[in-house]
Amino acid sequence: MSKRAHNFCAGPAALPEAVLLRAQAELLDWHGKGLSVMEMSHRSADYVAVAEKAEQDLRDLLAIPSNYKVLFLQGGASQQFAEIPLNLLPEGGVADYIDTGIWSKKAIEEASRFGNINVAASAKPYDYFAIPGQNEWKLSKDAAYLHYASNETIGGLQFDWVPEVGDVPLVVDMSSDILSRPIDVSQFGLIYAGAQKNIGPSGLVVVIVREDLLGKARSSCPTMLNYKVAADNGSMYNTPATFSWYLSGLVFEWLKEQGGVEAIERVNRAKKELLYKTIDSSELYSNPIAHNARSWMNVPFRLADDRLDKPFLAGADARGLLNLQGHRSVGGMRASIYNAVGMDAVEALVGYMAEFEKEHA
Ligand SMILES: *Cc1c(COP(=O)(O)O)cnc(C)c1O
Repeated sequence: MSKRAHNFCAGPAALPEAVLLRAQAELLDWHGKGLSVMEMSHRSADYVAVAEKAEQDLRDLLAIPSNYKVLFLQGGASQQFAEIPLNLLPEGGVADYIDTGIWSKKAIEEASRFGNINVAASAKPYDYFAIPGQNEWKLSKDAAYLHYASNETIGGLQFDWVPEVGDVPLVVDMSSDILSRPIDVSQFGLIYAGAQKNIGPSGLVVVIVREDLLGKARSSCPTMLNYKVAADNGSMYNTPATFSWYLSGLVFEWLKEQGGVEAIERVNRAKKELLYKTIDSSELYSNPIAHNARSWMNVPFRLADDRLDKPFLAGADARGLLNLQGHRSVGGMRASIYNAVGMDAVEALVGYMAEFEKEHA
């Protein structure tokens, strides 16, 4: 066994050890071809097979209907903040956005450069500790789409429901919770996810888009940002991020071997229940998020006395519990417990938390 640490990083995040070992084994000589995946033409039959298998495995995992395209693009999730309005918001049109934290705010700021953005609801009055119910939303009449982030990675705020907006396409940033539990893809017009949380290496972004939303891009939309161009070219209008795509494919295979999204949901549920239970039953740790909006993937918590933050982190590091420091904008701690972070990691963490609390009682 290797000496891998338990990595609670928010992103780029832990990858399954089995995936890294497989990539290592295949690195110098992929399937007896005498070269690595990184050194192959993206147009070669070998690479196209790798790319197509990754897409098919993702389709299987999420039961993606055939009228959706799956795109493997570049620029991370942040590029999508501009790409979405350029493709889906007509000149003079309006789009509705829900503000539940830092990532949705960034999406709002960027989209505002391209047109009329209506912030239909904000979690600000709740200090970003709760998600306003849909009865509080002020949706516009003719929105081109509604955008929200299903999981706010920094604040640790997650929707446990899907907005109901009739025929208005739902556009969702699922960067930090895609593949963590089952979803019904047909409820969405467009799903996007930066890869570095639950999919693979950073830089890659996966876009799942309903076909009828293609071909609506503004004439000023750069070719490289046009979904239809990407779809018509199998995400190979230019050279794609071939190694990231391949590695994501290995993660999809791994997830299938774990029993798929339904099986990982059971593990993820047990992980977050153990961690929140530890926090809620302690005098030292706390998490302020409304119970129905607590993230399964990113669990921020504070220590009652922030002078204990440093010793807490130092002790964690010494035990191989890495990257628990909260985001600089929030402070405190944050444990990101994505699919590749197993129950063993969460058990090690809560064991340490209990030990630390006893020592500092
Ligand atoms: C990480 C993250 C992003 C940004 O991803 P990049 O790939 O760095 O652009 C956007 N939205 C959410 C919800 C995230 O977690």
